[in-house]
Amino acid sequence: SKILVTGASGFIAVWIVKYLLQNHFMVRGTVRSEEKGEYLKELFKEYGSQFEYVIVEDMSVDGAFDEAVKGMDAIEHTASPFHFLADNPDEIIKPAVLGTLNILESALKFGGVSLKRVVVLSSTYAIIEPVPEGQQRIFTEKDWNEFSIKEIEEKGKDAAGHHKYKASKTLAEKGLYILFIFIDSVDNNNNNRPSAAWKFMKVNAEKFSWDLVTINPPFVLGPPLHDIPNIAGINTSLMDFYRVITGELKASPLQYDNWVDVRDVAEAHIRVLTTDKAGGERFIIAASPYSLQDILDAVHSEPSEETFSNVPRGSPGADMVYSVVMDSSKAKNMLGLKFITIDKTVKGTARNLLSRQW
Ligand code: NDP
Repeated sequence: SKILVTGASGFIAVWIVKYLLQNHFMVRGTVRSEEKGEYLKELFKEYGSQFEYVIVEDMSVDGAFDEAVKGMDAIEHTASPFHFLADNPDEIIKPAVLGTLNILESALKFGGVSLKRVVVLSSTYAIIEPVPEGQQRIFTEKDWNEFSIKEIEEKGKDAAGHHKYKASKTLAEKGLYILFIFIDSVDNNNNNRPSAAWKFMKVNAEKFSWDLVTINPPFVLGPPLHDIPNIAGINTSLMDFYRVITGELKASPLQYDNWVDVRDVAEAHIRVLTTDKAGGERFIIAASPYSLQDILDAVHSEPSEETFSNVPRGSPGADMVYSVVMDSSKAKNMLGLKFITIDKTVKGTARNLLSRQW
């Protein structure tokens, strides 16, 4: 089978490509530059022509993926801006939403009879809303983060950077009309140009036979395989991890987020392709809640390693407080996923990052 992976140069996507190749799929990756494509060609050279790349410079342009989707059996759409630094919310929301719409529209027009499934990499940030202090809430696939969208509606550019990113993930996955005041190029009242993934599926249900799956991970950790020429090029979910193990950021026992290993996210992307009943489902792929202190405790867990002798210890044994808990039981039951332990993930990630010369 042939699988298209968009944004193939990203932290998570490189692992997805690797797992697809190991599982004997043919892979076509989209990248934004030849340099990124050649890096991947070299990384996957043992697979020869089983891996190819095509350049899609701007996924916001109409028809951006028209050529790329031709002849594919499935599509895994991962490309989306991931940072908390946007000034105008449009900077991040527009490429996220238009990229998702464009992959679906190209699939609709040029997907062909072989196309069975489109998988969109969403986020637990499309699910989680703030939990009042001192309380705990368990989130499932039924929940949607509309809070971040309201924040943007009310505050516009002054909303916190993380809410701009979080809103981009809800909007790309679910689609809500209100926010499109920011997006001139999307006509909210025109059903030929619906707002995002699940809505697109509803509106166009009669026109094709493939289905949609979304994968919703929390903060993704794990050893990076993608090109990181300098520390600034490290992706957003590894940045605070790196800062805490190098002592630049003080560890706190308060909940930082939930986490999952990048290899489990990649494995989920394989399993949804081979599990018929996964069609039409969202899947939370989360190992557990964590604090930055948990990272330090895991780095120093037995057996201890010389490599980590300079990593701070923080305050081991501090009381951990977790308010946001993700329910991954659907992924465990339907996909048979088991999660890598925090000790293995943290040590592997730390070894990888500390061995680099920046
Ligand atoms: P990376 O930043 O490493 O990867 C992002 C990918 O998207 C890169 O291939 C990047 O291309 C591409 N991309 C970014 N902006 C654009 C754009 N405007 N047009 C085209 N391509 C673009 O991050 P991750 O691998 O961590 O994230 C991948 C996906 O996973 C994203 O959809 C993110 O929202 C989602 N996700 C990530 C989590 C995490 O903790 N890492 C958690 C939950 C979801 P280029 O290499 O050229 O910059």
